[in-house]
Amino acid sequence: MGLLSLGTPLPWDQARELAQEVRKHGIEQFLHIWNNMKDRKRDRLLWGDEIEYMLISLDHQRRRARLSQRGHELLSLLQVEETESLERASRTGEKIELEALWRPEFGRYMIEGTPGHPYNSTVNDLVNVEANMKRRREIVAQLMDENEIILSVGSYPALGSGDFFDPPHKANGPFSRSLFLPDEVINPHPRFRTLAGNIRERRGSKVAINMPIFHDLNTPRPFVDPAIPYTRDLFPEDKEAREGAALPDHIYMDAMGFGMGCCCLQITLQAPNVDQARRLYDQLATVGAVMMSLSASSPVFRGYLADVDCRWNVIAAAVDDRTLEERGQVKLAKDRFVIPKSRYGTIDTFLGSSDGHFKPEYNDLELVYDRDIYQHLASNGIDDLMAKHVSHLFIRDPLVIFEELLKQDNSVSADHFENIQSTNWQNVRFKPPPPNSPIGWRVEFRPLEVQVTDFENAAFSVFTVLLARAILAFGDLNLYIPVTKMDTNMERAHSRDAVLREKFFFRRKIYADDSSSSGSEAEGEDSEADKDQVVEMSANEIINGSPGFVGLIAIVEMYLDTVVLSECVRRKLDTYIAFIRGRADGSIMTAAAWIRSFVRSHPAYAFDSVVSSEINYDLVVALDDIANGRRQAPELVGEGNAC
Ligand code: ADP
Ligand code: MG
Ligand code: MG
Repeated sequence: MGLLSLGTPLPWDQARELAQEVRKHGIEQFLHIWNNMKDRKRDRLLWGDEIEYMLISLDHQRRRARLSQRGHELLSLLQVEETESLERASRTGEKIELEALWRPEFGRYMIEGTPGHPYNSTVNDLVNVEANMKRRREIVAQLMDENEIILSVGSYPALGSGDFFDPPHKANGPFSRSLFLPDEVINPHPRFRTLAGNIRERRGSKVAINMPIFHDLNTPRPFVDPAIPYTRDLFPEDKEAREGAALPDHIYMDAMGFGMGCCCLQITLQAPNVDQARRLYDQLATVGAVMMSLSASSPVFRGYLADVDCRWNVIAAAVDDRTLEERGQVKLAKDRFVIPKSRYGTIDTFLGSSDGHFKPEYNDLELVYDRDIYQHLASNGIDDLMAKHVSHLFIRDPLVIFEELLKQDNSVSADHFENIQSTNWQNVRFKPPPPNSPIGWRVEFRPLEVQVTDFENAAFSVFTVLLARAILAFGDLNLYIPVTKMDTNMERAHSRDAVLREKFFFRRKIYADDSSSSGSEAEGEDSEADKDQVVEMSANEIINGSPGFVGLIAIVEMYLDTVVLSECVRRKLDTYIAFIRGRADGSIMTAAAWIRSFVRSHPAYAFDSVVSSEINYDLVVALDDIANGRRQAPELVGEGNAC
């Protein structure tokens, strides 16, 4: 989450009136950026990661772990150095060198940390990533009270269950109206509660999130959640919860905080130019699902073991602001479009680039886009695929409008464009350069679940960067699959142990010289249709290869072989690659599998899917011990990979 605007956010009834205005100016701002920046060339391959943490307070005597409201306070302290150095720099022109930057997130208990400046473009620099991540943990630790810890894990197991928040507050606040989450879990900056409130109001009801329960030996069938106060009647939406929002055999959640209160690992990569950014966007989008399955770290929601391992669908439902008309549940009358997906989800359209690999049939989802905006962009020289992309993002309303920021100079501001862009939360994000800045065209890779240890977070970051470098270096690498297959992959990537049990759609042939995948050399050249064939493969086959398929690790290694590296650097990179290999072949567990197994072997677990506060406490302490090297967990991080 970037820096926040200050001001007064408008409530939904006023914001909706200004939506068209914001869209209109947002498009003008995009056009200015495009015209000024489209010819930018030779930007360096800078990149950076974002790691989200949760602050937890422990009560060892009562064996209780609770998310701490103090996260926000800690963040203010963490930001002091940056504010002071910015101020000094503006006076003296001095260059700022900070180790880390700290940003707010949706949860009041959350903190986001990034490196102080983007990492360099050299491969040698990749070995510094883990040290920087460790440093971030140390910096936060210096400010924590004795009974506090920070944890990096996808979903907090007890969020919304029992006494999970320190200090306790009552649920059913005016913004979320949740049965389970007090509004106090939301970051106090007005943007966040307005976001939650406006999503609910725009939708016309509370969000409804249902994740399948993990049926253990003693879990009732059907499972009807006893924690839902079925007789409550505070808000009209409570009626909806009783009459259908909460599904049997599911864990029901009813607020934005259940989704945006999860943590993730994101990686932003700068490309040399806009064309290469488009290539990176398309190619990275197709590997998102399999990478997410390797990184799964969210098996528990609201105190119950779920039959999924990832947070993605929870967030998609948690911010689903579509009205009944837009969801296709009643006939379109007042709204403009029927929209198949939440504003959080996989991309709906590829951007194409000059590599020659894109084919129109890959964009096989009937795209909903704003035709007027498309026409306007097209008549201003924007090509078809880019105009479709932007006019698709702009079918959404701006959710939070700051009164003070309405009037802007479109030639120097991108605020209105970013308002819509930054609330289209997709598996990859195409980021145009901010106006008047040295920053170039970037792509953000967003599907990864955050890992418990810095080693794992570094391994996923480094592997993603190396894959991105290989994509840029090897123009004949082609990972395109149809968009709808990517959607299916993402659905499959959620399921319990997807990394071991699922198949993902992937191209049979991803590389022009990939003789391993032809399978029909005797018959000579593959036909065009053969080359385009999409088949189903396990994560292991996709990552590690198989007799018929080269595998992504081999591609990364081919790239590394083209770079001059010291032996020491190569060895370190090899440990990251070996870790990814282990996750894919099942020899190293995902955090989701580890957590599930911890819960199921806990003496207090009754095999009824319930993760009690006692189990939650022991789990949180164990994860913190692993993250800080006090407990060895080779089954999670790989043999010999110290934390
Ligand atoms: P968000 O859009 O998620 O708010 P930001 O724009 O704040 O993200 O940046 C997030 C990440 O981008 C950080 O890891 C940061 O180090 C990295 N970053 C910043 N500048 C660049 C750049 N020029 N190229 C690549 N990455 C960058
Ligand atoms: Mg974030
Ligand atoms: Mg981000």
